Amino acid sequence: MNSVKLAEMDWMSYRDRVKDGECTILLPVGAIEQHGPHMSLNPDVLIPEHIACRVAERSGNMLVAPPIAYGYKSQVKSGGGNFFPGTTCVSGRSLEEYAYDVILAYVAHGNREFIVVNGHFENSMFLVEAADRAVEHARLSGIEIKVVLLSYWDFISATTIEKVFPEGFSGWAVEHGGVLETSIMLKIHPELVDMSKAVDIPPAEFPPYDVFPPDPAWVPSSGTLSSPAKATAEKGKWILDECIAGICRTFG
Ligand code: ZN
Ligand code: MN
Repeated sequence: MNSVKLAEMDWMSYRDRVKDGECTILLPVGAIEQHGPHMSLNPDVLIPEHIACRVAERSGNMLVAPPIAYGYKSQVKSGGGNFFPGTTCVSGRSLEEYAYDVILAYVAHGNREFIVVNGHFENSMFLVEAADRAVEHARLSGIEIKVVLLSYWDFISATTIEKVFPEGFSGWAVEHGGVLETSIMLKIHPELVDMSKAVDIPPAEFPPYDVFPPDPAWVPSSGTLSSPAKATAEKGKWILDECIAGICRTFG
């Protein structure tokens, strides 16, 4: 009862909740992607879904759609690349069409406001295109909709980064499977993390270009781009608290 996950509602309760367009739909979008030997394949799905649910609970006027779990192809310099077993990605075209179709299906139920909560860096521009085209399509049908697109990590302040990385921050680019994501997962899904398997490596270094086909030798063999060794659930709580509060303050 009173779930913020719309898929857990019966259709009549859902209809009555959204038909006037007063409810905001939060749509988490992630990826199925290796995150090192110490963590499951789905942090990019579970983290934005968790944040969306906490935001919706606080707002009272939002519902969370089932996440789009598959994301755009993992890239060597941001996600370790598309060649690890388990990393299961779709083309930009597929992601764009899928997100576009899902948004417009919710528009047909009466919804007018959306917040797409992204959890996988590589998705970004395909979600921009989906949002832009959905807004335009609705407009041509005489319906005004608004789509906010955010990536949760953009709500993490420099102050929190300093607190989480007292010895210095190696930068966002190498955070894949590192302290940030691992800390959040230790907080929300400790059963999906095994710190005894965490590989302690220096931050990956890459040339200032990409090459196709990508070269697996560029990527640390563990699959993470920096060390998760200093991750803790407490750091995860600091990060989550700030993201959730920031999103609520901006859109609540
Ligand atoms: Zn990730
Ligand atoms: Mn990712």
